[in-house]
Amino acid sequence: MKKIPRVYCASIATETNTFSPLKTDLKNFRESFYAEPGEHPNTPTLCSAIFPLLRKLKKKHKIKLVEGTATWAEPGGIINSKTWNYLKNKILTEIKNAGKLDIVILGLHGAMISRNCNDCEGSLIKNIRNLLGPKVIIGVTFDPHSHFSKKCEVNANIITVFKEFPHTDFVETAKNCINLCIKTFIKKINPRMSVFDVKMMTILPTSKEPMRSFVDKIKKLEKNKKILSISIIHGFMAGDSPDLGAKIIILTDNDKKNGDKLSSKLGMQLFSFRSDLPPKTLPANSSILKAKDLSKKNTKPVLIADIWDNPGGGVAGDSTVLIKKVLSMKLKNIAVGTIWDPIAVETCFQAGENNLINLKFGEKTTLNKRRSINKKVLVKKIKKNVFQKFGASYVPMGNSACIIYEGIEIILNTNRCQTFSTDVFTQLGVKISNKKILIIKSTNHFYNSFFPVVSNIIYASVNGIYPNNPKKNKYLKLKRKIWPVVSSPHH
Ligand SMILES: [Zn+2]
Repeated sequence: MKKIPRVYCASIATETNTFSPLKTDLKNFRESFYAEPGEHPNTPTLCSAIFPLLRKLKKKHKIKLVEGTATWAEPGGIINSKTWNYLKNKILTEIKNAGKLDIVILGLHGAMISRNCNDCEGSLIKNIRNLLGPKVIIGVTFDPHSHFSKKCEVNANIITVFKEFPHTDFVETAKNCINLCIKTFIKKINPRMSVFDVKMMTILPTSKEPMRSFVDKIKKLEKNKKILSISIIHGFMAGDSPDLGAKIIILTDNDKKNGDKLSSKLGMQLFSFRSDLPPKTLPANSSILKAKDLSKKNTKPVLIADIWDNPGGGVAGDSTVLIKKVLSMKLKNIAVGTIWDPIAVETCFQAGENNLINLKFGEKTTLNKRRSINKKVLVKKIKKNVFQKFGASYVPMGNSACIIYEGIEIILNTNRCQTFSTDVFTQLGVKISNKKILIIKSTNHFYNSFFPVVSNIIYASVNGIYPNNPKKNKYLKLKRKIWPVVSSPHH
């Protein structure tokens, strides 16, 4: 009779911006997503797609399943020690109480940093390895915006990473991780890991070249039977970590020598693209002038992405720089989604719809010289517990409001989150097709949802709190020489 593996799964994930004025505690995890064992919803979240997939296998009697905790906090500042200790010990206790296990599968992000731990994921995986011994198979899914440490490399058997940015393939990545863990368990494969340090930190959207072709090429290479998986860690420039930067991770079927060769070949190829990888950006003024110009020629709205004031990168998402600029140019028919301001939302709820009120909003945490906007606005719509969809997952915006003044409609929200989809507007009654310009807060996750409804996309680079220049960022823990901190790290 075939042996059925006993599998434990859990997910703790967030992305820590160590330069952010925000801090992260348990409340932030509970607010974004928190499921006790057995309480995970049927829909996946970005880092917890392993849960619904493993449940399906359990139903088919292919595995026995012990579900652990799953939680996610919107990217923010450093996690306090108490919160990290609590979450880590919760997982370790669940594993201790799970009985004999054959496989542990974790949905992690990979860029968690707490006050007392520089490498949360590495430390968690190492603790699990120490607890369960060398024979248990440990599989992990990561977000590419992460720091891949030696502790992760030596203590995990299987690593899979989202290939796409926007991360539209998070379910597929979880599926691959599970499949490889089960194949390892039935001894169909003997995975060996090869890791290459690309020594580079930049932005790598896969919606444009040269990353589009690079990812497509990697997918083709994975069709080779000996190559089980190829992953690219992009790195996360806002997290001061000794492991910061891009890496190539290859899993081969017992072929480490060729895995090493291929990972360094692909890594050096990626490094050679370094200057062409990030999206072309424009400063605040030029981005609006260009949008104004383009909007005259097009019937669909022009989209401006405020890429550095992105809550998905751990900052507040309440900068009003672009709003003030469009106002000063007297542009109309504009929608902004979103400005994070729970107090302003509360005031709108208290005032009620269709009322004119004086409202101060935005810029609670940004640079000193910046000021909130203080205006008489119309509360156009208020709505409780708003969600936006991202792939198969739902992202909570919390209570939200749409305010309007001087031809601009602005979405204010309570749960800090980046702009993933057009839902941020449509859920609050904003008609996108009527707008000339849309301003959103996101680096690239918005792409697939907005692309069909806008005429052009402009990436605006507005300097604020986000440490957007690795060359200038004051890294204390990063000691390795990586580009562009040094110009030629491979020599
Ligand atoms: Zn990411």
